[in-house]
Amino acid sequence: MKKQSVYTVIIGGGAAGLLCAIRAAERHPDKTIVILEKADRVGKKLLVTGNGRCNLTHIGADAESYHGEGSEQLINILFKKYSTENVLRCFHKLGLLTHADSEGRVYPLSNQASSVLDVLRRRIAKLSIEERCSTEIKSVQKTADGYEIVAADMRIAAKKLVIASGGRADYAGRESGSRELLRSLGLSMSPLSPSLSPVTVKNDLLRSLKGIRAQAQVSLVKNGKIVKSERGEVQFAENALSGICVFNLSREANRGGFEIHLDLLPDFTNEQIISEITARIADDPDAPAGEIFTGMFHKNIGLALLKTSGIRPSALCNDISEKEIKTLCRHISDWRFVCEENRDFKKAQVTAGGVRLSEIDPHTFESKRHKGLYIVGEALDVDGDCGGYNLQFAFASGLCAGDNL
Ligand SMILES: Cc1cc2nc3c(=O)[nH]c(=O)nc-3n(C[C@H](O)[C@H](O)[C@H](O)COP(=O)(O)OP(=O)(O)OC[C@H]3O[C@@H](n4cnc5c(N)ncnc54)[C@H](O)[C@@H]3O)c2cc1C
Repeated sequence: MKKQSVYTVIIGGGAAGLLCAIRAAERHPDKTIVILEKADRVGKKLLVTGNGRCNLTHIGADAESYHGEGSEQLINILFKKYSTENVLRCFHKLGLLTHADSEGRVYPLSNQASSVLDVLRRRIAKLSIEERCSTEIKSVQKTADGYEIVAADMRIAAKKLVIASGGRADYAGRESGSRELLRSLGLSMSPLSPSLSPVTVKNDLLRSLKGIRAQAQVSLVKNGKIVKSERGEVQFAENALSGICVFNLSREANRGGFEIHLDLLPDFTNEQIISEITARIADDPDAPAGEIFTGMFHKNIGLALLKTSGIRPSALCNDISEKEIKTLCRHISDWRFVCEENRDFKKAQVTAGGVRLSEIDPHTFESKRHKGLYIVGEALDVDGDCGGYNLQFAFASGLCAGDNL
């Protein structure tokens, strides 16, 4: 087995690792950098982000949109220097033109995620950074003057080592994992759980709603108290609720013990809902109950609401009692779904948990335990909301480590 000696090894050619390599090479053109990537190409995940459009950052991203023990302090320090503007400036220098939507989500002007990867790879080639793909690293050893990284067919000695191996959530239904690697370095980790994922719920009626979307106020509820609430589009799946607003509640919901409550008419008071439904019934008393919701909700949502309220869809409007109307209206504004514990990373966009932030210096991302070791991106115990926050963190932390290598 041949042994090579380089200045920096970066494990993981994803968002954080690629930008870290570029920044380090720009600052120290005389020092060799090698990226070791287990997939057959670097940056594969970037291509599927943002539904193929890559939502690379978010205007004005701040600590409020991040989670993880100690993340507030870390993000406040990091974004002072590596803010959204800074990350965008860096991408513009690489040649990427971008645009922001009305919510502040930033995409490449081409609306193609490949543009983001293309500018990164072009710069990597120009800076002669070596990419070694199909190389999975399972363990690393600390040596007297750095690290020894061993793969199946190679051995590299490096003065500096960057772990940019991401989390457990991968893409295309795969799970990734670098826990063995992180454990080999003795780093302390918080438990991992899937985040930004659909939330699995118990409800026999969901099958009839599969593929249907509805606007709603979506609340995460524990012991009768609203923990978090988001407004937006809910997508019904066979045994799950999905959509960006549900994704943003999934971090907690996936742990089980929660309910999701949907308010399908969040701009209506209870009285207004009752008066709307009563007026519809009075307007066509001989119509089947299933027609009450015509022009209001998708037909199958209406049928599911009737069933949940114990009303037969074939019953005539006239036969619905006042008590049943009240129950129906309650379900329109407070339709409850019991969340099941979900440990499946295959449909998650990010991993909550990871290397504890107490392990790193927030100003440099260098390990406090091992000098010359840096940990960046999703491998750390930081996860963001949906909307470009996770890539913003990956890029910003990569830049910060790159500046400090
Ligand atoms: C479908 C999907 C859509 C997403 N869309 C968005 C979006 O639009 N906006 C947003 O902000 N975030 C999005 N995310 C989240 C975002 O992609 C990640 O948070 C971000 O890529 C993390 O960057 P990273 O560099 O830390 O890790 P990654 O991008 O995961 O890169 C880690 C790399 O390390 C490699 N690796 C892992 N272990 C080893 C090992 N042992 N040896 C060698 N190599 C290894 C992996 O193969 C991978 O290439 C999305 C995620 C998914 C799954």
